Amino acid sequence: MTTQARPAFGTVLTDHMAVAEFRDGQWSPFEVRPVGPLPMHPAAHVLHYGSECFEGFKAYRRPDGRIAIFRMSRHVERMRQSARQLVLPEPDPQQFADMVRAVIDRDRAQVPEAPGALYLRPMLIGTTQNIGAAATPSGEALFIVLASPVWDYFAGGMKPLRIFVEERTTRTASHLGVVKTGGNYAAALGPTLAARREYGVDQVLFCPGGEVQETGAANFLLIREGKILTRSLDSTFLHGVTRDSLLTMARDLGFQVEERVFTVAEMLAWVKDGEAALSGTAAVLAGVGTLVTRDGEHRVAGTGEVGPVTRRLRAALVGIQTGENPDTRGWLEYV
Ligand SMILES: *Cc1c(COP(=O)(O)O)cnc(C)c1O
Repeated sequence: MTTQARPAFGTVLTDHMAVAEFRDGQWSPFEVRPVGPLPMHPAAHVLHYGSECFEGFKAYRRPDGRIAIFRMSRHVERMRQSARQLVLPEPDPQQFADMVRAVIDRDRAQVPEAPGALYLRPMLIGTTQNIGAAATPSGEALFIVLASPVWDYFAGGMKPLRIFVEERTTRTASHLGVVKTGGNYAAALGPTLAARREYGVDQVLFCPGGEVQETGAANFLLIREGKILTRSLDSTFLHGVTRDSLLTMARDLGFQVEERVFTVAEMLAWVKDGEAALSGTAAVLAGVGTLVTRDGEHRVAGTGEVGPVTRRLRAALVGIQTGENPDTRGWLEYV
């Protein structure tokens, strides 16, 4: 297949999904079935009150046919935390991992060669039938693991991103920033489309009150030779596994990693000669070329190109994921 013919990220699924149901206080054994419509009552809790959370992580094909899953246990724990915060039944960690492995094993032939990957998308929804349950949790739920073959995110070259710096609105409610729940993306969509229209940007960097947070679906890092600055963990933004992996790796490479609150003013001073990037499972690390504020445009490192340190850190992490670099931290497990 040529690069042009490859489907866009997330638009195709593999043939099978794993499904488990929570009822009468326990999870049913899971089933692997063909991907297809879910029978759902129109009064289901999720359709009215947004009781939903999800995860996203990747698995990579090895030349010997094994499939390596990247940091699955972190994603399992994050989803259980999302479920707790939304008062949904928590997936059982063992069953969660078994469902992921079962889907990968069943559709093994559909996992692309690296740098392509299989993107895993577990999702949890509240299914209790009650349209009067705005202030009542859903006692019944469905937990489903979907898988999607994805190809090299930067197959067309690493295009520097244009980012709008938004200081007036928030991405979501402050206590939900840390939860991977559908409503957060619905909340960020309007401001993101408005900024695209008005400023021709790719994404919005939410900086409520002048403090730099993250974009609609990725964490934000300031990078320069030997140094990284990123916001310290709190409930206002999503704790990315990619962020954690990059910081861990960078520390081992001798970088000085600073995690603290920082302002838009500090960020704009940094990018006069430093780099900026977004981190997340889909792109791993994507370089920012231009920061757009209501006062004007700021070319990152004067050039507006993806910086060399950003490229080097990305290549180092992708190398671990695809098996070119050794996995010295036990981040991969094999199916
Ligand atoms: C998923 C997500 C991220 C990135 O998390 P990873 O674990 O690195 O994929 C960052 N911010 C938001 C809002 C997200 O939804």
